[in-house]
Amino acid sequence: MKIVLLGAPGAGKGTQASRITAKYNTLHISTGDIFRANIKAGTEIGKLAKSYMDAGKLVPDEVTCEIVKDRLTWEDARDGYMLDGFPRNLFQAEELDKFADIDLCLNIDVDIDLLMDRICGRWMCTCGESYHVSMLGDSRVCPKCGKPLYQRADDNPETVKARLDTYFSQTAPLVDYYREQGKLVSVTSGAGSPDDVFVQIVKEFDKRDLR
Ligand code: ADP
Ligand code: ZN
Repeated sequence: MKIVLLGAPGAGKGTQASRITAKYNTLHISTGDIFRANIKAGTEIGKLAKSYMDAGKLVPDEVTCEIVKDRLTWEDARDGYMLDGFPRNLFQAEELDKFADIDLCLNIDVDIDLLMDRICGRWMCTCGESYHVSMLGDSRVCPKCGKPLYQRADDNPETVKARLDTYFSQTAPLVDYYREQGKLVSVTSGAGSPDDVFVQIVKEFDKRDLR
């Protein structure tokens, strides 16, 4: 299966992606993760990406599309993958359709009023889990694996505001793009837990016999 994961920042794409990967063994390709790895490694791409990410803007399409196009030629991506964070605008979606046959777009719908608090209170673990500060008490170690938690550099109110603006102006129109292609599947992430969202996803996947 070739899946595109869509949703606003804070909708829980990363959380659901790690659950999907665990259950269906899908290859998870996150452009945000790729950029963060490049920043950490101090590459040229990382240096370029950082200035855009810090501002809550999109990294230029030529760079991003090239990275994804290359990544999809790797052997491990032959039978399927889940793209998380790509495409993020119409141009990228149209480019993607030139080098990949996407089967389905999984859109995580979320109440926008919840997003700011969700993202700014978010603590991450290198194991892939993330937690809201309200469930951690005074502790800042991962309840699952014991490693220290950290906050993402772009999870501050100012950058989050810009990321949300970018999402609504550039990425949200992709919901219609995939609906028109008959590929859209939407689940809702309201006040419910990540588990509730995952139950919906599994139901949708099983309906389509996805694995
Ligand atoms: P979130 O969805 O929570 O904003 P991501 O990890 O997906 O987080 O993305 C973080 C940042 O990385 C984005 O704000 C953007 O600057 C950059 N980025 C990620 N994917 C793309 C993409 N497809 N095109 C351009 N920029 C991207
Ligand atoms: Zn952990």
